[in-house]
Amino acid sequence: MVDKSNFTPPGITTTAANQAQKAMGDRPTTTTNEPNFRDGESQLTLQWYGNKDVRVKESGVPAITEPTDVIVKVTGTTVCGSDLHLYHKEIMQLQRGDILGHEWMGIVDEVGSAITNVKKGDRVVASFQIACGTCKFCKEGLSSMCDKTNSSSVQEKLYGKPFAGLFGYSHFAGGFAGGQAEWVRCPYGDTNLLKIPDSVPDEKALYLSDIIPTSYHSTVCADVKEGKSVAIWGAGPIGLLAAKWCKLAKASRVIVIDNVPERLALARDTIGTDVINFDEEKDVVSAIYKLEPDGVDCGIDAAAFRYTKGILHTVQRAVGLETDSSEIVNEALRAVRKFGTISLVADYAALTNQFLIGALMEKGITLRGTGQAPVQKYWHELLEKIESGEFDPTIILSHRFSIEEFSELYEAFDKKEMGIMKTFVQTKFSGPPAPGTPPLSSLRAKDVKPSAVV
Ligand SMILES: [Zn+2]
Ligand SMILES: [Zn+2]
Repeated sequence: MVDKSNFTPPGITTTAANQAQKAMGDRPTTTTNEPNFRDGESQLTLQWYGNKDVRVKESGVPAITEPTDVIVKVTGTTVCGSDLHLYHKEIMQLQRGDILGHEWMGIVDEVGSAITNVKKGDRVVASFQIACGTCKFCKEGLSSMCDKTNSSSVQEKLYGKPFAGLFGYSHFAGGFAGGQAEWVRCPYGDTNLLKIPDSVPDEKALYLSDIIPTSYHSTVCADVKEGKSVAIWGAGPIGLLAAKWCKLAKASRVIVIDNVPERLALARDTIGTDVINFDEEKDVVSAIYKLEPDGVDCGIDAAAFRYTKGILHTVQRAVGLETDSSEIVNEALRAVRKFGTISLVADYAALTNQFLIGALMEKGITLRGTGQAPVQKYWHELLEKIESGEFDPTIILSHRFSIEEFSELYEAFDKKEMGIMKTFVQTKFSGPPAPGTPPLSSLRAKDVKPSAVV
């Protein structure tokens, strides 16, 4: 893999996008992204300042600003692979001081006058998207595509229509403060918070925010069913949980492709997949055909546009000729069987070159962008699977850290150091670790407890 750790592609310049938004004006929304604050109170939050520059800083505690708001004390948060795009300044419309984090849960502290579904003291998890609950898309259950919460006119210009506002994901996603914090204001709290039963610990419930529904959705979009074979590119949290969903769906074979040995070991030994290490097997497509002579029925791209393998795409990204690499999707187009299906769950952002459109057409492949997953469409059903024990997201939970060490955690997570996979980040409001989950580690004290699972 080419090391691009100090590289920011000029194709996406966050400053230019901010200027464009200013010129065009905000897209109208039905809730504000500028909350009021409680008098005299402060909290710790993780804020973005630039390429690979995130800082834990004091900021104000949000107050009820709209009648549909809920204020939540955070008991669990984490860093997501997609936060690394922000960390590397690869998402448009970031602004210095933005509070990041879209996966979070906690205890309801205060509710607005229009709130009826939750009350003070309830344990809740938030969906990463902010849905209004009443627009056309929300009514169809497509919460991630809410039409009323994203103020980004830049995204509307680029895509035709924007996705929903997201917590902590830049002004490209509506400019809402995120959940890598001690307190969060949740707009439309009746819609965007799910109550958690006492039998489900925080260390399992937190991941209903994003990675559990997102991984599940990627398998639905790839048409994974009993008896079908699946190849998954990327053994990060989404790829691994998708592999687990494929096994639960009784897929005939699941092949996971990555180059991080401990992640491949987890896929093979804990989840029971075949694995391909692309550092050893340079020709991934041939390696897949060796296992499945007709090609796989389904492909899931859970890698990321940042990870180029060859010099061609690395150079094109460096000089701004493309924002996203097509290498993985082209491998999938070659490796999937004729009339097979591919879902793209990796966060592609804008433009790519050398896309193998011929294979898409000539092999009759269905290529589906998953979109940001409509978390709320799935989360009741998936909570039941967690409650019953059918699905245990802690198979990928590797470490527990404290919010004070968030900037060190970003760095270690980005470098894939110390076996860090999916983390649980505690705040002063968190309880002790649930039995069987990782104890508290400290990066600052160089006391990182080896994980039981990774
Ligand atoms: Zn996430
Ligand atoms: Zn809506």
